[in-house]
Amino acid sequence: MSESTSPQVPVDNAVLGQSPPLPVARIDQIGQLLGELDRTPVRAAAFSEVLGPQVDNQLVQVRLGIASGLFAALRCRYAGTAAHGLRVALGCSSWAVRRGLDTHQRDVIEVAALLHDVGIVGVPDQVLFKPGPLEPDESLLFEQARRMSVEILRTACAESAILEIVENIAAWYDGSRGGTRVMGAQIPLGARMIAVVEAYDSMTTDHVFRRAMSQERALGELFQAAGRQFDPELVREFAEFQAGDQTAARRETAQRWLRSLDPEAADSFWQLQGPNAPAGLTSQTDLFQAKLLDHMHDAVLFIDAALRILQWNHGAERLTGIASSSICLRTWAPGLLNMQNEKGDQVADDDCPVVSTLRSGVQSLRRLTIRGRGGRAISVDSHAMPVTAPDGRVLGTVLLLHDASSEISLEERCQSLHEKATRDALTQVANRAEFDRVHELFVSTHRDQQMPCALIICDIDHFKQVNDRFGHQAGDEAIKALAAVLRNSCRSGDLVARYGGEEFVVLCAHCDNASAARRAEQIRKTIAQQAQPALGGRSITVSFGVTELQPGDTPETMLRRADRALLLAKEQGRNRVVQLGIGADADFRTASVLPGQRPWSATPAIRQVLVTPVPIAVAIEKLRGFVADHKAKIVKTEGNEVQLHIDDPTRGRLRRAADRPVAFRLDLRLAEEHVIRSEKGTGVGCPVAQTRIFVSIVPMRGRDRRRADSAERARQVAASLRSYLMATQEKEEPEVLSDETGLLGRVGRLFQAWTAGK
Ligand code: GH3
Ligand code: MG
Ligand code: MG
Repeated sequence: MSESTSPQVPVDNAVLGQSPPLPVARIDQIGQLLGELDRTPVRAAAFSEVLGPQVDNQLVQVRLGIASGLFAALRCRYAGTAAHGLRVALGCSSWAVRRGLDTHQRDVIEVAALLHDVGIVGVPDQVLFKPGPLEPDESLLFEQARRMSVEILRTACAESAILEIVENIAAWYDGSRGGTRVMGAQIPLGARMIAVVEAYDSMTTDHVFRRAMSQERALGELFQAAGRQFDPELVREFAEFQAGDQTAARRETAQRWLRSLDPEAADSFWQLQGPNAPAGLTSQTDLFQAKLLDHMHDAVLFIDAALRILQWNHGAERLTGIASSSICLRTWAPGLLNMQNEKGDQVADDDCPVVSTLRSGVQSLRRLTIRGRGGRAISVDSHAMPVTAPDGRVLGTVLLLHDASSEISLEERCQSLHEKATRDALTQVANRAEFDRVHELFVSTHRDQQMPCALIICDIDHFKQVNDRFGHQAGDEAIKALAAVLRNSCRSGDLVARYGGEEFVVLCAHCDNASAARRAEQIRKTIAQQAQPALGGRSITVSFGVTELQPGDTPETMLRRADRALLLAKEQGRNRVVQLGIGADADFRTASVLPGQRPWSATPAIRQVLVTPVPIAVAIEKLRGFVADHKAKIVKTEGNEVQLHIDDPTRGRLRRAADRPVAFRLDLRLAEEHVIRSEKGTGVGCPVAQTRIFVSIVPMRGRDRRRADSAERARQVAASLRSYLMATQEKEEPEVLSDETGLLGRVGRLFQAWTAGK
């Protein structure tokens, strides 16, 4: 311990004369104050005043200069704590003089001591003035008040030594407590001194919760904690120092401040810092973390268990337009950001992510809206994470706010692009591209599920005349009216699309031919009875073609069959429903390979004998449907034989270039025969004509590496042919039948007529 080198300064006006010349007003004032100081008895355990109100005020002003307001705020909040600060400052100052510390060291210790408890301003009244012992979470508020003091000073204190002292006053000498990383002599001397003086002052002062101890007992407590909480050498030194006349020591310091402190030097400790200036950060990691925090694009808020905002990074300033300096240390509430929930309702205080995380200790992720910079609403993804102490207590929350507006607008734009790409602008039903896409899925899904599905295609009758008579715009209204009726007729899973012009298609999910035809009939009646205001109250009529998915169908063959049905409806007089195809009869859902033939291993060539219960003329008519819908080419006809070429039914829907389409050659030989069928009920047999068809389907590309693929496609063609011919497959191995001579010529003529007509 260094010996005291400071001479006792007598309190009289003569000494004042030895000081540097001062302005007259100040000399007068100081003289008056020093006189008052002489008359004021020092109350060792004064609750709020130290040397009298006027002297106290003046001491604080000369010591803190422009920062006196901080002290005044503390005094307004809790005069007892402010007085404690002043006593500790005066005590430390006298001790520092005795220890021979230089002026700068003394200055920083004095300022740090005066303001070390300024964070108390944030402790709630019910805790601050609680007469009984504190609950653990209430004690925590006092610990946080220490940290708050540092945060408050950091915004305006330009002297890092002051911040370092305040930051480490709570550090225990043995490093066991205080939440700091330093111990022993690493703790700044000023912090170690203040720790001793403030403990002693606190113990020797009356509090609402505890009466003052005797000085001996307080010193005893200090010795008890020496080496653990306090620097043992300093405790010993303080005890010696304390043995002197403290009243005189305090007066002496007060006089020194009043006489010799230069206001400009006092002000030099203070200047505004950037909101997140790293002043006071002690470790390299702190600096890295501060840099990261400051350069994050997202808003990062630290909010303690008392709901005080401790951190408001640049990202938060950018997002909200609220400066860190104006919001730090304020109490958090969702209303600060005008937080609204997913439904657009204000987020209640106890429903906000911060409070729910503090309460539950569980993180919360929500999409919210806040008032952003310039007052505009911004969608944010909020992520509140609890910060817990090793013993599990929730100390606070880190709230991350990520600006989601660009993602939202991207989602909206994608949505609107999707709408544009898939909707018809006039009618708002699906457009043709969407129909093509869905139709393919529709076919494959229903086939996989072995469920029926149907297609309705319809076209307004004599629409050119409607346009001619009422104008194009009125025509548009009629198109919209039909679209609305079709939409209203939809069930879940259906799709209505505008195929083009005044032509619409409806995909009917889980629906067979008969039901689809009934629905089409209902639509036909509805639209025919609906007066169209745009057409002067007249109605329009519509023709319909209906078909059901049948074995071997591709989306194209299904659509062409429906289109053929529509054509028939037009030909038969319009304003009617025509249905084509036999649908997905259970017989046809089964695989169509020959008995014992394994589709994935056998040669792709398929040979079958089909029997259709109709005369040969009707069978040929049905074959025409197959040829038309498959766009098959008739290569030759000879007698009762016909050879067709068809392209791969999956053509146009192949994704890889390697999937070159496979074309097929179909050789068909037709023979009419008569069988005796017994009439229902009567049991009387009568001869009926049926047609037997010998079928061979051969892929036209020879050495096909994708044999299984090709076999599957051949099977589809075979299945389709059977559907069109309404035929069943002979179970028995085919026997070679001789042609019925009488029929040969007739079949040849039928084929010729057909090919000639094409
Ligand atoms: P049909 O009974 O045989 O169908 O006779 P139609 O006059 O309706 O003949 P068609 O279907 O070939 O005529 C379609 C007409 O629909 C031709 C075209 O002027 C008209 N059209 C196509 N798209 C639109 C459209 O978006 N708005 C209007 N107002 N008319 C359209
Ligand atoms: Mg048309
Ligand atoms: Mg038309």
